[in-house]
Amino acid sequence: MKDERIEINYKSYDSLAELSDADAELLKKSEEARLNAYAPYSKFHVGAAIRLENGEIILGTNQENAAYPSGMCAERVALYYAGSQFPNSVIESIAVSAPSANALPVPPCGACRQVLLENEQRQIKKIRVLIGQTKGKIIEFDGSESLLPLAFKESFLR
Ligand SMILES: [Zn+2]
Repeated sequence: MKDERIEINYKSYDSLAELSDADAELLKKSEEARLNAYAPYSKFHVGAAIRLENGEIILGTNQENAAYPSGMCAERVALYYAGSQFPNSVIESIAVSAPSANALPVPPCGACRQVLLENEQRQIKKIRVLIGQTKGKIIEFDGSESLLPLAFKESFLR
């Protein structure tokens, strides 16, 4: 038996001012998108903003349902919209914003991480993930691998 270890790398920023203008704008858009969340049950309003390599910006918000499992996270709403409206465009980055105590970054759920991975495999390129709010700390991952170690991938289906 051997004890193994997995390490993940990510960047952290103390404030929005440390981000590039383009990333700060994307994070702002994800926060603004929260106004359009449909979250009458959780009251937890989440926004996502995707930047495609062609410059297109796609917004998503969580969409809840009285039949709870029928609802969908903001990240996946945006990712699926990108996949259906711009199937041949590469997703460069996604910013995710959710309210939290002390403005701490709220990372994507496991299902959204899995969908991020699928999109990376589909486009054969990593997707940068920015998590935070216009106030407080922001964290950045250079791809889904750091968010989802030992992931299930299509290669296992062969
Ligand atoms: Zn999710």
